[in-house]
Amino acid sequence: MVRVTTDSTPPSRDPHPGPRADARLDALLDPETVATSDLVDLLAAICDVPSVSGDEAALADAVERVLRAQPHLDVLRDGDALVARTRLGRARRVVLAGHLDTVPLTDPPNLPARLQSAADGTVEMWGRGTVDMKGGVAIMLALAVELGRAGSEPAHDVTYVFYDHEEVEASLSGLGRLVRNHPEALEGDVAILGESSNNGIEGGCNGTLRVEVRTHGVAAHSARAWAGVNAIHAAAPVLDRLAAYEAREVEVDGLVYRESLGAVGIRGGIAGNVVPDACTVTVNYRFAPSRGVAEAEAHVRELFEGFEVVVTDAAPGARPGLDDPLVADFAAAVQAATGTAPTPKYGWTDVARFAELGIPAVNFGPGDPVLAHKDDERLPVARLAVGRDALRGWLLGGPAGGVDSLES
Ligand SMILES: [Zn+2]
Repeated sequence: MVRVTTDSTPPSRDPHPGPRADARLDALLDPETVATSDLVDLLAAICDVPSVSGDEAALADAVERVLRAQPHLDVLRDGDALVARTRLGRARRVVLAGHLDTVPLTDPPNLPARLQSAADGTVEMWGRGTVDMKGGVAIMLALAVELGRAGSEPAHDVTYVFYDHEEVEASLSGLGRLVRNHPEALEGDVAILGESSNNGIEGGCNGTLRVEVRTHGVAAHSARAWAGVNAIHAAAPVLDRLAAYEAREVEVDGLVYRESLGAVGIRGGIAGNVVPDACTVTVNYRFAPSRGVAEAEAHVRELFEGFEVVVTDAAPGARPGLDDPLVADFAAAVQAATGTAPTPKYGWTDVARFAELGIPAVNFGPGDPVLAHKDDERLPVARLAVGRDALRGWLLGGPAGGVDSLES
């Protein structure tokens, strides 16, 4: 049991509790007791196996042991990613996906996770991963153990995907690796990512494009600046155009996506007495999912006409998919259970990888996305059961009752 404390001093214990935390997971997910076992304890146990990107093996091992102990699941492991599938022969298959890794711990470490009461009495769990996104992982793991056993059979087949390396460069992504190595294991009719969304549905995501706008000059001694051409000064019109830029708001499938475009870096100059001969402004454009990468690039090139523009990174967005009947049914169920209407997701998430596979995908998780990656990352623990019950109720065939209508 995790104790609630009102002590606000940061924890200083060793954040590497080792195999004991794994044993806690196994005990909490005993098939006989999981339906009633405490999600708060489960989240604490998952958080207390630290899993900063690249260091997910211990947590993946623990999750794998739990999944392999379930006779109703077929389990596949690839590196530190796991895919577990029910095989009930249902007409539709729902994919629940979540990443096991977190961003690095703070100094001193913000683990082990601890419970603390806020001023208004809300009990929150503090610690790395509580928001992004072990709350979602805890819900998925509890459902993986529960749904599929006699008496708790879901209306759809379910695939659970736990993966590594989400918080680092895209080329390392465990989900990307699964797409390359085992695309058949990811097949489904809808994907639900447990990324933070305040227990509402956040649909789709904006795309992202990063470019370097480069200016050139002629180097000279700064004491005789007239002998050179200053490349930083030449970048002034680039900054003017950025400052004057008005970002669009675009409606896609009923949700309004807000775009943004701005400088995220500027580089130029080699010494305090040299007229710089090169300057680079790095610009990031977050574009609505109605626009593809090529169109986004064309837009940015038009904005910086007359300048050298080099694309350094790009990823397409994803449409919210709310026009899909199964997604709409899930959205209705969530709204009925939590009172929250669907909203757009602005940040890029792995829903886009599912969209590329042709699988509509949404984000649905208990955390507050504003607190992701922050030093004071924390989750009001009552949200765990609310999120679990909404997902569980829908998978079991209620409370929206849309399953029958879908079969017709
Ligand atoms: Zn995340």
